[in-house]
Amino acid sequence: MNKNIKFYNSLSRQKEDFVPLDDHNVKMYACGITPSAEAHIGHLYQALIYDIMRKFLVKEGYKVIYARNYTDVDDKIIAKSNELHVPANEYAEKMIEEIDKEMQAFQIGEPDVWLYATKTIPDMIKFISKLIEKGKAYSTPNGDVYFSVDTFREYGKLSGRRTEEALDGVRIENDEFKKSPLDFALWKSAKEGEPYWESPWGKGRPGWHIECSVMNYVTFGEQIDIHGGGRDLLFPHHENEIAQTESLTGKPFAKYWIHNGLIRVNGQKMSKSLGNSLLMKDLRRDYHIEVIKFALLQNSYHTDINITDKLFEDSEKHLYNFYKVLSEAEDKFGKFSGVDASVGENFDDAMRDDLNTSKAISYLFNIFKDAKEKIKNGDKSVMTTLNSVINTYSLLGLFKENPKTFISQVDEKMKIDIPNEIKDLAEKRWQAKKEKNFALSDSLRDEIQSKGYLVKDTRDGYEITKI
Ligand SMILES: [Zn+2]
Repeated sequence: MNKNIKFYNSLSRQKEDFVPLDDHNVKMYACGITPSAEAHIGHLYQALIYDIMRKFLVKEGYKVIYARNYTDVDDKIIAKSNELHVPANEYAEKMIEEIDKEMQAFQIGEPDVWLYATKTIPDMIKFISKLIEKGKAYSTPNGDVYFSVDTFREYGKLSGRRTEEALDGVRIENDEFKKSPLDFALWKSAKEGEPYWESPWGKGRPGWHIECSVMNYVTFGEQIDIHGGGRDLLFPHHENEIAQTESLTGKPFAKYWIHNGLIRVNGQKMSKSLGNSLLMKDLRRDYHIEVIKFALLQNSYHTDINITDKLFEDSEKHLYNFYKVLSEAEDKFGKFSGVDASVGENFDDAMRDDLNTSKAISYLFNIFKDAKEKIKNGDKSVMTTLNSVINTYSLLGLFKENPKTFISQVDEKMKIDIPNEIKDLAEKRWQAKKEKNFALSDSLRDEIQSKGYLVKDTRDGYEITKI
């Protein structure tokens, strides 16, 4: 085993050495997606972070079982399927297919275990029944079942919210049969037109929180090492998961509660009503997937990310410059061998420090600056360094593309993005140059530059790039 990994644990509110419950075996669960609409950048970010976490743990010698779920029954799915006049399960299946396709396109690794709420219903019914037996939950004459928050003394230990504060944070379900306003539904009786399952309390379906508790329980047993999710899930979702599971088992549920930051778009929360959701399929049409990953991973996973066009443009520019260096090195010294070499120590240290991808990426700027210099000086040792960069950073999903392919894709895009006005000026300059009117061609070049573009002669003509 290598040096210690540290993770920020939301439960203790500090960075802790990572020590799994059972030797070097890691049980890891991340709350997945509710497939009620197409996947957006928030879904991508969360899936990317936990995929990288898993891959890094494996690289460090841990044996990881990573589980993710689909919350495939939910109010929004039901509403959407009613609107489209298709059964809820069909709609959810279709969306899951779409989302899986996007995750594959972004080369997000599959979890070891896929879980689906609708395939775990009998276990949920058993789990809820046990909570009722233990006096931790109660059913109502309407056929609902609630968790009794008063019976769990440690309620609030994750979020730090005392019960009266907690009330501000939840949408209270109005129900005359609820014993306390904080009590939350474990089982919801079916309303007209809703999908349902038979249960001891009548026709209904599980509440959202109990699904994750039970999917964990059936996959891993009483305790797990890492429970992850977006920070928006910390309360009430994860607080309630703790209450349910620990009430049943009497043991601490997850040892490390890990939460990733949230995505903002131009300073605003991403939401359907604002119409600012960045869909995964649109993003990869506009940018290479590595550009999007680079943009996201420049942040530490805790902090919220503010997405702007500039963030992607800058990331594209940086990666483009890096790939240029790789391409130059290849031209000069031949293809990369793909053999591992160790420049990765700094990278590993950064990643051991609570998965600091921000720091890991920051090293690239100096590495490539030095590499450029070495190539210029004909120093072949640059190949070892760059080989190692390619190997090391593949863990973050970077430098997996062929350098020339990446470069030509960005070049093509830049050509398309160039306004006609600039293209006309460049053509005029080209004509002036052919006529040997260098005064005119120079002044046209300056004019183009003042408008934010560079025109450069190439072997078979000229090319325009954005500055
Ligand atoms: Zn969950």
